[in-house]
Amino acid sequence: MTTNQAADVVIIGGGIAGCAAAYYLAQQGIASTIIERDGIAAASSGYNAGGLNPLEGHGWPELLPLALQSFRLHRQLWDALPAETGIDYHGRISSIIKAAFTEDELPELRETLATFNGASEPGFSAAWLEREDALALEPRLSPDIIAGARAVGNGALDGMEFTRALAAAAQKRGATVVSASAVGLRLGNGRVESVVTPDGEIPCGALLIAAGPWCRTAEQWLDIAIPVDPLKGQIIRLQPDGPGLDYELTGGGSSMYAKTDGLIWCGSTEEDAGFDRSLTDAARRHIMAMAARLMPSLANAAVALHTACLRPVTPDWLPIVGPAPGWDNVYLSTGGQKKGILLGPAMGKGIADIIATGDTGICRDGCDPSRFVGAG
Ligand SMILES: Cc1cc2nc3c(=O)[nH]c(=O)nc-3n(C[C@H](O)[C@H](O)[C@H](O)COP(=O)(O)OP(=O)(O)OC[C@H]3O[C@@H](n4cnc5c(N)ncnc54)[C@H](O)[C@@H]3O)c2cc1C
Repeated sequence: MTTNQAADVVIIGGGIAGCAAAYYLAQQGIASTIIERDGIAAASSGYNAGGLNPLEGHGWPELLPLALQSFRLHRQLWDALPAETGIDYHGRISSIIKAAFTEDELPELRETLATFNGASEPGFSAAWLEREDALALEPRLSPDIIAGARAVGNGALDGMEFTRALAAAAQKRGATVVSASAVGLRLGNGRVESVVTPDGEIPCGALLIAAGPWCRTAEQWLDIAIPVDPLKGQIIRLQPDGPGLDYELTGGGSSMYAKTDGLIWCGSTEEDAGFDRSLTDAARRHIMAMAARLMPSLANAAVALHTACLRPVTPDWLPIVGPAPGWDNVYLSTGGQKKGILLGPAMGKGIADIIATGDTGICRDGCDPSRFVGAG
């Protein structure tokens, strides 16, 4: 640890990135203080779909090793965290049906078959579904689908409760959570000495900036590049007129997430809207229309909740995890993009290792913050 061992690590941000770091720091006997202005999991870490697909996404194949490591950590946490904290966040293996409406969409299904059946990790598989097979598995699917693929092995959880569980477990081992907004830093000799809040300063031995899409605020404090930008996502939670889903579903422009309380979460939008987090009628209408295309019985389903949040995205879609260039005791963990819940444990363990020992077996090359030095 390149800091005074006796001093705390101060973490700005109580989302998955900050709470996972606090959890893994606590496991190494390092106390931390999370500064969070809106409450633990108040931003996208509390309002995400909770899907854990380590095989596919933006930034793959570069992100595949990190995603698989994180998936394994999730599996370990499913056994430990609920027992330790009393918070059941419903970590489970899920099964997805991908449906195609047109011939053009069939190659994507074949790609899913190849990806899941070719996975290096045990537990993943996929099978082709003729139209009738798909409708037999989920009779509420649109009769207009022409084929499908069923993929098994992904995970699912409640992202808000998971983030809260990490924070609670860290707190049990000495971490503290301070409700405050970080508005600046006091600097000295290439180090951060304290985090400034409206109520006073919080001294730190080391500082971790895990402020999600708001990380750029620290660019001016530290005179470094932290190129993370917000990607807005709106989700609609529907109360179906009947049972919930046994499968996640995608197709026809919709993604549907099965929830343990019987709700069906539909979405989500990807909007370049700056820091605007308003709920829009246009998004609601679009999500509802796509959902009804995939599952016509949802056309008039009651909306239980409509949410909007901001994903933290980097230019190369890879996270930023490591020491802040040019600073002795400052670290960054952000850029989880559309996969921040999946990647959270690996990002948290990686940055905790780096703070504790200067190195880690995960989150190395592709995630190093120094890749943006001089990028302007
Ligand atoms: C619609 C949607 C669906 C998603 N679905 C999935 C999914 O299925 N699977 C998946 O893996 N990921 C998903 N994600 C992505 C995932 O939610 C994010 O990548 C992840 O939550 C980002 O976590 P974070 O901790 O980096 O940021 P955040 O959750 O945004 O947390 C940052 C925190 O920092 C605090 N903060 C910022 N600045 C300050 C300051 N100056 N002082 C004090 N506090 C501050 C904020 O209040 C916030 O609570 C989804 C996201 C969205 C929006």
